[in-house]
Amino acid sequence: MNKNQEFLLYNSGSRTKEVFKSLKPGKVGMYVCGITPYSDSHLGHGRCYVVFDTLRRFLTYLGYEVNYIQNITDIDDKIINKSLETGKTPAEISRKYFDLFMDSMEKLNVAPASNHPKVTGNIPEIIEFVEGLISKEFAYERGGSVYFRVSSLKGYGSLSGREDAQEENLASRVDLEDEKADSRDFAVWKKDEEHGWDSPWGKGRPGWHIECSAMSRKFLGDEFDIHGGGLDLIFPHHENEVAQSRALTGKEPARFWVHNGMVTLKGDKMSKSTGNFFLLNELLSKIEGPVLRFYLLSAGYRQLLDFTIEKVEGVKNSFLKLKELKKELENSDLEYDGEISTNNPAILALLDDLNTPRAIGEIFKLTLPVLEKIYSGSAEKDEMEAAWEMLRIVEEILGVDLKDTGHGEISDEDIENLISERNAHRKEKRFAEADAIREKLSLMGIIIKDTPSGTKWVWEKGIEDIDE
Ligand SMILES: [Zn+2]
Repeated sequence: MNKNQEFLLYNSGSRTKEVFKSLKPGKVGMYVCGITPYSDSHLGHGRCYVVFDTLRRFLTYLGYEVNYIQNITDIDDKIINKSLETGKTPAEISRKYFDLFMDSMEKLNVAPASNHPKVTGNIPEIIEFVEGLISKEFAYERGGSVYFRVSSLKGYGSLSGREDAQEENLASRVDLEDEKADSRDFAVWKKDEEHGWDSPWGKGRPGWHIECSAMSRKFLGDEFDIHGGGLDLIFPHHENEVAQSRALTGKEPARFWVHNGMVTLKGDKMSKSTGNFFLLNELLSKIEGPVLRFYLLSAGYRQLLDFTIEKVEGVKNSFLKLKELKKELENSDLEYDGEISTNNPAILALLDDLNTPRAIGEIFKLTLPVLEKIYSGSAEKDEMEAAWEMLRIVEEILGVDLKDTGHGEISDEDIENLISERNAHRKEKRFAEADAIREKLSLMGIIIKDTPSGTKWVWEKGIEDIDE
């Protein structure tokens, strides 16, 4: 059921926040550019897919059924180069790195898209798209490759808003300069005898941008609601994508263009070219997935995020408090089964262009005092219910899992038993024994805390050995 709440979403196309309205009632078609799996994913990828997973969750909360398409660029210059380096086939390489990427996504609680189409699985659709562009004279064949004629499309450059956008293709990826009628033109099909597919222009493979035009059209139609990706894709990738789609269909493919900001490390863009980046799977071996996700959402999605381990530590402390609160609420006799109120201040923040930092601020403002009150035994039922509602937003919409999972063999019950044992020792003033149990728990990663309402415990996972 649609909640009819006004959701303002920033549209890079109009450079303004607009009221989100789907093309079809109750349904959203969302396309987000996926990865090129040729090496390990980095934190910038983590941020992008956490942001769009959160957007998907929020749209779902608002009552939409979201059809989320995220492509896999499983054939490309970089994959072919890696294949030459390693002796593995492009398919083996893309499978390996895509699986690693999906492992990281699972740790970040990013749900798989509704569909992850591969370039290699959509070659006929891509060829058909290119044929359409040629027949409408927006593209031409030269020496077995096909190029998009930039000068043929009015309004080229409007998405990225660069007056000089047409010139900038000059500096973009390797196209065979000599063959192009105009240096601004870009390849939609590349001649490739070795790794190519049969096509009307001989053996070749898709250019960089055409796959997204062809696959978004195939899975979502000529027009759909949201097209997303990292801000670095706006030019030339999205500009060229929208040019191809407009040229073929005469329609605007996406109603909303949504771009997330980049991640930097002390001011340097985190990308492979600078060598200054954090590999996701490495980070996730040191930082719990939910903590990293919470951290990534602690900045507005359009802002630049400068990674510092101190900020992650800060987020982690807050996260542990929410976990404690959840445990307290579950152990209380309160039976909460309420709906998330449409006036919840965290929801109101998210309605304003998915303002996650403001939402998180509202969540802490309400929940932390309740946790203190629970400790001192003075929390009222309605306060506890309001806190519970906030935790549902944390888990269901922000996607930050507060469950205690993945901590090895020991069960909650075993932990509780050890704590009772320790407390019995303390009562009898056998402090050495009591301390030994505390130490044992600590070695298992469990922190205990004595409060007026009894001994509390939380999982502690160290964030060590991260060099900045
Ligand atoms: Zn794309």
